[in-house]
Amino acid sequence: TTAISLFTRDLRVHDNPVLHHAARAANVVPLFVLDEAVLSGAFGSPNRVSFLLDSLADLNRSLESRGGRLVIRRGDPVAEVCQLVSETGAEEVHVARDVSGYAQKREDRLRLELSARHCVLHVHEAVITTQPPGAVVPSGNDHFAVFTPYFRRWCEQQTRAVLPAPDVLRVPEVQGRPLPGRRALCDGEVSPRVLRGGESEGRERMREWSAATVCEYVHAHDDLAADATSRLSPYLHFGCVSSTELVVNAGPSEGEQAFVRQLAWRDFHHQVLAARPASSERDYRTRHDQWREDPGALHAWQRGSTGYPIVDAGMRQLQAEGWMHNRARLITASFLTKTLYLDWRLGAAHFLDLLVDGDIANNNLNWQWVAGTGTDTRPNRVLNPVRQAGRYDPGGDYVRFHVPELADLPTEQLLDPDRLQPTERRRRGYPAPIVDLAEARERFMSARGRG
Ligand code: FAD
Repeated sequence: TTAISLFTRDLRVHDNPVLHHAARAANVVPLFVLDEAVLSGAFGSPNRVSFLLDSLADLNRSLESRGGRLVIRRGDPVAEVCQLVSETGAEEVHVARDVSGYAQKREDRLRLELSARHCVLHVHEAVITTQPPGAVVPSGNDHFAVFTPYFRRWCEQQTRAVLPAPDVLRVPEVQGRPLPGRRALCDGEVSPRVLRGGESEGRERMREWSAATVCEYVHAHDDLAADATSRLSPYLHFGCVSSTELVVNAGPSEGEQAFVRQLAWRDFHHQVLAARPASSERDYRTRHDQWREDPGALHAWQRGSTGYPIVDAGMRQLQAEGWMHNRARLITASFLTKTLYLDWRLGAAHFLDLLVDGDIANNNLNWQWVAGTGTDTRPNRVLNPVRQAGRYDPGGDYVRFHVPELADLPTEQLLDPDRLQPTERRRRGYPAPIVDLAEARERFMSARGRG
């Protein structure tokens, strides 16, 4: 038999159920389709395309070292798979289950087209997440809307065994395209300090993380300057590392278990999106918000010039690295949606332009969580950026690094714009605060009160 192993968000050879099962056939065709619809939409951003190309090149090297290679095609994935079925006479196609509305439609189309060609579609669960959507559900509902009870049930669930990488692959003669350069796929510049993609990089990071840093995670994960999180999110997003492998290998220590809990947040948002694909764009729970329109404020937030140093530091980290610390994502997102009272969709779109780990489930549903239109059980809490800075960047080192024009200020002045003299601020070319926090809070609370 010949089987096609269609890679999507599972760009790895280790612990990959799709490749593992396809490789049982006499011949296997490892395929990746550069999907025009994805590349020309919000997902075709320079940071993510660059990470994707690194990951595909690395995957090809891993397949070559096993006697195979990655076949690259470009176009509509369903049409390309069907074309390859006719070229190779493949009887099976293997693919991972994914959760977005787009992925669900792609799977339906594939099933229909392949059945007309007498080719069987095998859709594998627990490739992209540890627990597949639908595996952990409350009675009488198709998904959990609150994380804590979800997590309790998630912990009781069996996790599948970790699968080895295949030793040898036999790939028949088929035509593919060479991997294009990034500029052939998207315009714009890559952020200067973006991480390099690929399973090899991801596994190296995973090894270092498990060996050294994870123990401090429980105490340090919210400390902005300590930078003590794994930075595995882009590797998880593209499937260069497997969340199942991370969960199975985690020990019982507090740090490791706190890390596993974060991985469960990822599964949580995926199961919400799988059940409610429209929540990528529409409010999961409407609060009847009448979001303001204020292009000037939006622009200042995007550029990192709001006059609140902790907010500006986060936004500048995003521009420079294509990544932002989770605590800074919470602060900057609360600032946009609750302090400026601008629509969460504007913030989510800007994050997706830059985040190398940007994905619909984690990004858009975390945005909704912060905006209070999602699954947060305290939808009206507002994060005060000055108090957050004092708590999570008490020495000011995170701000000093990302907002260098303020770096030599004493910490109290650095973190609280009220303590910085206007003349001093002007001398440094740093903006005055674009909004008064107390008034903004009042505006938000009365808007929500009306809802
Ligand atoms: P670690 O702290 O090391 O956590 C390990 C892994 O757990 C992460 O890699 C991630 O896969 C998962 N994880 C951790 N926190 C969360 C969370 N709150 N929700 C879902 N998964 C989580 N994460 C993304 O992967 N992609 C996004 O597009 C994204 N957008 C976000 C937008 C906003 C407004 C907010 C508040 C959070 C967003 N997150 C997103 C979640 C979180 O901020 C990142 O996963 C985390 O900062 C990645 O860094 P890390 O790998 O060092 O995390």
